Formats: sequence, structure tokens, C-alpha cells
Amino acid sequence: MAAIVLKSGAKMPLVGFGLWKVPKATCADTVYNALKTGYRLLDGACDYGNEKEAGEGLKRAISDGIVKREEVFITTKLWNTFHKREHVHAAVKRQLADWGVDYFDLYLIHFPVSLAYVDPAHRYPPEWFGDDGKVYLQNIPIQETWEAMEEVHDQGLAKDIGVSNFNGSLLCDVLRYARKPISALQVEHHPYLTQEPLIAFAKSQGIAVTAYSSLGPTGWLEIDMHHTVPNLLEAETITSIARETKTTPAQVLLRWATQRGLAVIPKSNSAERALDNLNCNKFDLSDEQVKQISSLNQNIRLNNPGEGIDIRLSI
Ligand code: NAD
Repeated sequence: MAAIVLKSGAKMPLVGFGLWKVPKATCADTVYNALKTGYRLLDGACDYGNEKEAGEGLKRAISDGIVKREEVFITTKLWNTFHKREHVHAAVKRQLADWGVDYFDLYLIHFPVSLAYVDPAHRYPPEWFGDDGKVYLQNIPIQETWEAMEEVHDQGLAKDIGVSNFNGSLLCDVLRYARKPISALQVEHHPYLTQEPLIAFAKSQGIAVTAYSSLGPTGWLEIDMHHTVPNLLEAETITSIARETKTTPAQVLLRWATQRGLAVIPKSNSAERALDNLNCNKFDLSDEQVKQISSLNQNIRLNNPGEGIDIRLSI
């Protein structure tokens, strides 16, 4: 499978399977089937609330001889309430136990947002909101969290470490004190948010970029958000290129990203669509088609926490 070589030399598959909004009840089967279909990258997070079930699916696929552990690239993410050094260590251990593995291939800081600690015994995953529905920040600088991530790497619990939802300035901050490479950056990226300068900067620093929400607002409708953003899968530019290339609109959107050198991690609860998405690299877009798709950019950011929610500077 096509892959991006990370600074460590590890190969991160260009197409992975995203686990956000995969229901707990079906997650083990979904992961099992994704691996059976040929996916070799799983993109999880503490916040998705389904790591235990994802691990069950993985375990079954391994015991049925579909894959070996070392053939699957597991990415997962540190949640915002665990940014304090000791909490990073506890969090990664809990997540490894949930997945039933002894290392992650890539461990990411999910957001550059440090939230007040929530004891996992009280609520897990802790999510954004406190018991009273408000969001409480915690005074942990990113440097402390990054250094703890490096310790996780030292201990062999993650083969690569990186960040998600960081902009260029925040990458510059980490680059000042990083003792280990930021191997990867995971960010929102689709034709309504093309992020050229950020991607160019990350690449100039040898940071691999993974795109999320590649299909635009579609995935957000499931959590009742962004109904007013026009459906990218139905945009005339995308559907006409799908007709020209005899592919599907989803494949066009994914190929546009991979052809720009980004990895993609589409999520689908349908086996047919999951296969469609996995096969997105079996054709090429012309330079003109890439340009046409990129010209849809409107700088529409679908995932923008910190704005529009009630944040308290608590601790
Ligand atoms: P996505 O762009 O993968 O779109 C998912 C939606 O598109 C779902 O509603 C699905 O039913 C539909 N879909 C999937 N394949 C399709 C196809 N072939 N044809 C038509 N419709 C199709 O959206 P996403 O879930 O936002 O992002 C994918 C993954 O990225 C997530 O599962 C998660 O792993 C990751 N992610 C990370 C962050 C982060 O903060 N790091 C944020 C959001 C998502």
C-alpha cells in the first residue's frame, strides 16, 4: 500500500480508516471488516470512546490470520484533559490497555488545548464539557505535554509522536524545544479549507500531514453541525470530475488530497463505501482537475473549538 515515510523511517499508509463516530456496538466488527477489506491504518482517539471495541476487532483480525500487529499502523490521540506530564503517561497506558497492544505507531496531541483534569473513574472519555456543561481550561503549557510525549516515545510506547489541530505558529513553538521530531500533523483539510501555507510549512520541516474531514461537512451532519455548508459530495466541480474519471465524488475528494501528498483517514460505517474510499488511489487527477478542486477553497473551518463555547479559565 502507498505510504508516507515518516522521519523515523516508519511507513504511514496513505489511506487509513477513521474511527470517530463509529458506534461502540459495531466498532469491533467495523474494524475487523476494515482490516479484512485491506485497510492497514486505524485512526482512533481516547475521545472517540471506542478504543476497547476497536482493539477487539483488531485482536480478532490478528487471531484469524488477516493481519499481524506489525502490519497495522495504529494512530491514536491524547485527550485535552490529560496534558499534565503524569496524566500523559497514565493516559497512554490506559489507551494501550484498551486497544490490547503494547505500542502505538503514532501518538498525537489531539488539540493544543489543555482542559481541567477529569479522573477517568469519574468520566471516560472525559469529553469537552465539565459536569456543569462548561469548559474549564488548565494551566499546562504545550512544552510540558510535548516533553511527556517524548518520554512516551523513549519508553517505546509510541513509535512516532505528533500533533493535531496545530497551526504554523504552534508548530514553531514546539520546534523550538522538541528533542524528537514532530513526525506528523493531523488537520482538517478539504476543498473548502485547502490550507496551502500550513501544509507547505509542515512539509518544509519534514512533518507528514494527514487530512481529516476530507469529505467536508458530510461527517459533521452526524453530530448535527454545519447543515448550511454546501455538500461537497454534490458540488458540481466534484461530480463532473467524478464522471470524467469514472470514479465517485468521495474518491475524487480523497485522491485530490493524496495527490497533494497528504494521507487521508475517511470514516464509513458502510462496507461498500469503505472499499470505495480505500481504492481512491487507483486513478490520477490531471493538474487542471486538481486546480479546479483547489479553487473551491473558502476557508471554511468545520472544527474550531475555542470559539463559540463557554470557556472558563479555571485553574
Ligand atoms: P469524513 O470526511 O471521513 O466523512 C465521513 C462521512 O462521510 C460519514 O458521514 C460517512 O457516512 C460519509 N462517507 C464516507 N465515505 C463515503 C463515500 N464513499 N461516499 C459518500 N459518503 C461517504 O469525516 P470525518 O469523520 O470528519 O473524518 C474522518 C476521520 O478523521 C475521523 O473518523 C477521525 O478518525 C479523524 N478526525 C480527526 C479529527 C481531529 O481533531 N484530529 C477531527 C475529525 C475527524
